[in-house]
Amino acid sequence: MRKAAAVLFLILTFIMPCSVLAVSTDIPDWDYPVPAVILYDPSDYLVLANRQNLLDSSYSPTDLVKVTAKHVNGDFELRRACHEALSAMFNAAKEAGYTLYVKSAYRSYGTQSTMYENRLDKNKGRDDGWVSYPGASDHQTGLGVDVLNYAWTQKDGMNAEFAKTAEAKWMAEHCHEFGFVIRYLSDKQAITGINFEPWHLRYVGTECAAYMKENNLSLEEFTEEWQAYVASYNANGGDFEAYCKSALSLPDPMGLDIYDNSGDEEMSFFFPGAN
Ligand SMILES: [Zn+2]
Repeated sequence: MRKAAAVLFLILTFIMPCSVLAVSTDIPDWDYPVPAVILYDPSDYLVLANRQNLLDSSYSPTDLVKVTAKHVNGDFELRRACHEALSAMFNAAKEAGYTLYVKSAYRSYGTQSTMYENRLDKNKGRDDGWVSYPGASDHQTGLGVDVLNYAWTQKDGMNAEFAKTAEAKWMAEHCHEFGFVIRYLSDKQAITGINFEPWHLRYVGTECAAYMKENNLSLEEFTEEWQAYVASYNANGGDFEAYCKSALSLPDPMGLDIYDNSGDEEMSFFFPGAN
């Protein structure tokens, strides 16, 4: 027995360094709190629009739907997933005793340009941070939406006092459960370049929204953080893109809407060469 143990010990001392070596050349583990395939973002739900990251004048989402959730001031459009999440949130708010209204949703580059010019005219050429520069507006993504209570839909101007309303407090506490974040936070004005807007919600999906809320991150900070993680993952021998493609198990994951839960008819698989 003693001899057998000695042989086993010898074998182990030989094997272990080899296995350690084998592990060290392996693909690194993905240990960022948000799954890689969510950040890979084939549906572009994490698109960042700000003064440093201007959207092209031609950037226009292809899956805009008409807003049927409660709204004021005419017709609005939002991206399909955003609108579904918003409708679910409005229903939950209603159950909690709050009625929410959409005041503004998708805006084209052209509409934003007009709004910006009008604001400058009103302010004698000064940009006061209330209307985004053309291409810098979160509204152009089709994922940004202004949500108010009824009393505030009747006001001419909006300001941070809205945060004191019960509806704003409810949204700040619960919107992440539906995949939304408050896009322009009060303590992030220096980073976002935009005044505190407790009514402006941005859809990013439930995983990212929960993480951003828990860590009090603006979209700018979150983007910088996960992109730095991807860079270090790749620098350590990983391949973020290949990892995501294999995780999605598709030849081309760009054709798959991994977020879609609205029914089979919305699933579109794209295989190169197929009809
Ligand atoms: Zn807004």
